[in-house]
Amino acid sequence: MSSIEPSAHLAEVRYEIRGALTRRAREREAAGETVIKLNIGNPGRYGFATPAHLREAIASHLVDSEAYGHEQGLDEAREAIVAQQRARGAHGIDVERVFVGNGVSELIDLSLRALLQPGDEVLLPSPDYPLWSAATLLNHGQPRYYRCLAQNAHLPDPDEIEALVGPRTRAIVLINPNNPTGAVYPKALLERIVAVARRHGLLLLCDEIYDEILYDGTPFQPLAAVAGDHPCVSFGGLSKVHRACGYRVGWMSLSGDPRRTADYRDALQLLAALRLCANVTAQWAVRPALLDAPTIGELTAPGGRLHDARRIVLDHVAASPYLDVVAPGGAIYAFPWVRADALPQFDDTAFALRLLDEEGVLLVPGTSFNLAASRHLRFTLLPEPAQLVEVFARIDRVLGRMAAE
Ligand code: PLP
Repeated sequence: MSSIEPSAHLAEVRYEIRGALTRRAREREAAGETVIKLNIGNPGRYGFATPAHLREAIASHLVDSEAYGHEQGLDEAREAIVAQQRARGAHGIDVERVFVGNGVSELIDLSLRALLQPGDEVLLPSPDYPLWSAATLLNHGQPRYYRCLAQNAHLPDPDEIEALVGPRTRAIVLINPNNPTGAVYPKALLERIVAVARRHGLLLLCDEIYDEILYDGTPFQPLAAVAGDHPCVSFGGLSKVHRACGYRVGWMSLSGDPRRTADYRDALQLLAALRLCANVTAQWAVRPALLDAPTIGELTAPGGRLHDARRIVLDHVAASPYLDVVAPGGAIYAFPWVRADALPQFDDTAFALRLLDEEGVLLVPGTSFNLAASRHLRFTLLPEPAQLVEVFARIDRVLGRMAAE
């Protein structure tokens, strides 16, 4: 009997954060073993609670959530997003230019689907959050990567971005604060990237889902404010800052001169309408999330769990003979690497496999983030501090064995 063949179009599409290593970890768990999982930025899995007032907002609106809603999102949610974006200095925002989706994930796909013709190119960071590459490929585009190297504090070089621009380039994607590196981009750097976008008429797509998760006073600069009248889509959501991944709520706002983006806006609206609407129930949490005092600062300030987790990572790396790291300025990840002088032969994927098999720890190797020849490992800052200490002990044991072989 002939088998059902999946689309050949998927051949290049990857999402290793939930890929082969994760399946292997699940098999080990099914066999009764314990695996420490640091692969997914999922606060709810590590004991971080969604703020009570968001839960209450949803509970009190259950009856109002039984019908389809507006394809772009509840008015209450979009008005709160408009208020947030205007307060940040975004240009030309109104409720018609805001879209609420089932997580930023859905909107990343939508934003590219509304933009790309087959063969169009999108400038993406390497490393990237791999959905950006996957969504580019799924929408018949071609990723072109600009590097965010550790030697440059994981910041992009605007000259390199400009050198990649060709006749088919349509957009520049930024992830700020960055997953996987934790880099937070200074305003002067964003100004130079906006200038590149202006010179070449490119749409700016800025994934700001970690916008309020910042350490040691690192300032966050929303791209829309820097872009002014230049077309820019900014993405935010409930998953990380508000610790509500399971609610599946994200948003995007289209800023800049509305005359230049009227057709693109209409294309987004059509795609939003085709999927009817985002989960209505969870959208009731958006207004309280954005208009009431944010609670994430308690976790990132000294004594907070994320602050302390980051400190543990930095202290352990500083003490390790094998590892180095650029201190993350934001987000919920660290992206250390194994030093070439300590272990000249090192393959991050082979290491991640060994760490899982020999020590029961699941990390994502740097190559999973579209980073060639990576010596990096990404792990989340979400586990309890004691568990992070244990993870480092296990990493050091495997690296020690590799060094001795
Ligand atoms: N963008 C980045 C940079 C992320 O790290 C993630 C999730 O980890 C997402 C988007 C997807 O978020 P959501 O839960 O809103 O779909």
